Amino acid sequence: MQNELRKSYESKYWSLISTVEPSKNGCFLCPASEEKTKETFSIKDAKGKWLVRSIIDPYPFTHPSMFKLKEKDDILKKYTSHGWSEIIIEHREHTKELQELSSEEIKNILLVYVDRIKSMKNRENVELIGIIKDNMKMDFEHSNSKIFTLPILPDLIKNKIDNFNDYKFKNETCFYCDLIEREKGSPRVIFENKSFIVISPFNQENNYEVTIFPKEHYSCLTDLNEFEIFTLAETIKNILTRMKIVVSPFKYSMIFYIKPCRIEDFHFHIRIFQKTIQHSLKEGYDINLCKLSPESIAKILRGK
Ligand SMILES: [Zn+2]
Ligand SMILES: [Zn+2]
Repeated sequence: MQNELRKSYESKYWSLISTVEPSKNGCFLCPASEEKTKETFSIKDAKGKWLVRSIIDPYPFTHPSMFKLKEKDDILKKYTSHGWSEIIIEHREHTKELQELSSEEIKNILLVYVDRIKSMKNRENVELIGIIKDNMKMDFEHSNSKIFTLPILPDLIKNKIDNFNDYKFKNETCFYCDLIEREKGSPRVIFENKSFIVISPFNQENNYEVTIFPKEHYSCLTDLNEFEIFTLAETIKNILTRMKIVVSPFKYSMIFYIKPCRIEDFHFHIRIFQKTIQHSLKEGYDINLCKLSPESIAKILRGK
C-alpha cells in the first residue's frame, strides 16, 4: 500500500499510514553501505571522503512517485503522501552521537539541511519542510536526522502561523521578536550568545523542553550566514551537553519550525525536549504515524 495522509473524521488530526518497516540487516547508513543508497548531497573532506551525507529515505514519510493530492470526499478525507523524504547521515562513525561531534561537524550537518531546504522548497506540492532529529534509533542506529516535505499544513503549524499573523496585524511587530525581548533576563533563560537565545518556554508541553530562537528576525535556516550557522551549531552542542547530564534516560527530539513554503513571513525556531513515547512526527508536527492501515486492521480482526 502507498503511504497515505488521512484526516480524522471530526478533529483536526492527520494520520500518516506508512506500512514499510526498515530492515534491521546491517547498518544502511555506514560508509560500507554507500553503494546501496542514493546520495542527494554531501559535504566532503579534502580527500573527497564524505563527512555528512543526505540520501533518499528508503522508508519515506512522503514519496515523489505517490500521486499528487487528492481524493476529495467530505467524510473520508485522504491525500496520497506525495513529497520527498531524505535522511541526513550525520557522521561516518556508527556510534557517534550528535552532542559528541565538534561544533564544526555540527555546522556541516546544518549546512546540509540548508542545501536540502533550498532544493526542496520550490518543488511542486510542498507546503511544509519538516526536520526531525531524535536519538531513539527506531529506524536506524546510526546517528541521523530526517528532512521531508508535506503536501498539507498540519494544524499545529497553522496555529503558529495564525498566532504570528494575528499578532502582527494588531501590533505591527513579530510575536517571536517581542517574545525574545520579553524573556530576556527572565528566570526561563538558559543561556544566550551573540546570535541565539535558549529558553525554557513559558508554556512548555514536555519535560526538559527548550526553544532556540535566532535573535535576528530570520524566517528560515537559509537566512543565516556562515558565522551564524557555526554559532547555531555551538548552541545545539551546548544545550544537548547540558541536557545529557540531567535528562535520564537521555532521549530527546529536536524539531525545526521553519517558514512554511507558501507563507509570507515567520520567525524560525527549534524545539528540543525529552522524548516521550510518541513518535517525533506526532510530537513535532502533530501527525500520527500508523504502521497498519484501518483496512488491514479490520482484515486481521475479521480473521480473513
Ligand atoms: Zn552505521
Ligand atoms: Zn521575529
